[in-house]
Amino acid sequence: MARGGSQNWTSGESEGRPEEQTTEDTGDKMVKETQYYDILGVKPSASPEEIKKAYRKLALKYHPDKNPDEGEKFKLISQAYEVLSDPKKRDIYDQGGEQAIKEGGSGSPSFSSPMDIFDMFFGGGGRMARERRGKNVVHQLSVTLEDLYNGVTKKLALQKNVICEKCEGIGGKKGSVEKCPVCKGRGMQIHIQQIGPGMVQQIQTVCIECKGQGERINPKDRCESCNGAKVIREKKIIEVHVEKGMKDGQKILFHGEGDQEPELEPGDVIIVLDQKDHSVFQRRGHDLIMKMKIQLSEALCGFKKMIKTLDDRVLVITSKSGEVIKHGDLKCVRNEGMPIYKSPLEKGILIIQFLVIFPEKHWLPQDKLSQLEALLPPRQKVRITEDMDQVELKEFNPNEQNWRQHREAYEEDDDGPRAGVQCQTA
Ligand SMILES: [Zn+2]
Ligand SMILES: [Zn+2]
Repeated sequence: MARGGSQNWTSGESEGRPEEQTTEDTGDKMVKETQYYDILGVKPSASPEEIKKAYRKLALKYHPDKNPDEGEKFKLISQAYEVLSDPKKRDIYDQGGEQAIKEGGSGSPSFSSPMDIFDMFFGGGGRMARERRGKNVVHQLSVTLEDLYNGVTKKLALQKNVICEKCEGIGGKKGSVEKCPVCKGRGMQIHIQQIGPGMVQQIQTVCIECKGQGERINPKDRCESCNGAKVIREKKIIEVHVEKGMKDGQKILFHGEGDQEPELEPGDVIIVLDQKDHSVFQRRGHDLIMKMKIQLSEALCGFKKMIKTLDDRVLVITSKSGEVIKHGDLKCVRNEGMPIYKSPLEKGILIIQFLVIFPEKHWLPQDKLSQLEALLPPRQKVRITEDMDQVELKEFNPNEQNWRQHREAYEEDDDGPRAGVQCQTA
């Protein structure tokens, strides 16, 4: 698992979000194992929000309703989320890995059922509620940041079970329900198996004829419309009103629109918004964040720049001549962030992070450099003495092979050195 460590190390190199760049060392975190993080597809330094989001996406994708063959994957996602969403368990896992999680309890890891985790997350109600009500159905609805800014109505086609109108959910003619002749109403069948001389074994299985219901409909009386299933599959279009200011992961509830089942109150349809990444803006709460590249000349001498908003207006921002914008500087525009949900006339702020583009090497002939230098603040003088070592300054690349090899050799040694590494970065 040493490899996880080196991945983390390089992750900070890519263009991070502004908040990652401006805060000091957001922790390329050193953890013992990364398996749970890998399952959710997040970095060990992921925030609780990022972990929630990763779980939401994967759980919806691999839910047995949508992906019946991926039960094992669904379980792993659930277990990883259960550990990483709990600060205490996450801490134990980071320090001691899966082994520590297993030993943390009473010997065997006691994970909750993946379905319970899912229901808790999506607000599906507990197990008790589920018995008297039909299942909730969760759907993901993909939206753009523009949709969330401007509001939009989307139509979504759902397949759902509805009570068969022809037989009113009985499955056949009235009075055609009879006690199952195979299991005599018990719902279970008992098979006797001889396992040795004079030894028999009783095996109980769910009755195949009535599927454990204890009653059945005589085949000749079966409803033609639903073939005895009591419900039929129907396509239903629902209109989802995405309101201004709603956010990624927000749920929109359609009460009682879930699958119908005889004698059960239908469950709900829960629509979960899934915001696609935007090419310019990132959202943080009510605020929008964007990066803007400016030339060194603009940074030093001022500029005018245009920004296209999410509702297609054009903003012009100005840095007056005489102002200096440094690389990474943050500036903001009031009331140009996201509309606030339920009070959309108010808006958050637009935060702009400036990235100053420096010229490439040898961009200016040698003789002109001195003219430039005369204009710039003076350089610092240094006095070099004989006892100093003059060394070569080279490009540094964290992905470089020799660096990595060195690192892995370091971590394969189980005891001392690794503890040393952990201390350094903790
Ligand atoms: Zn039966
Ligand atoms: Zn029917």
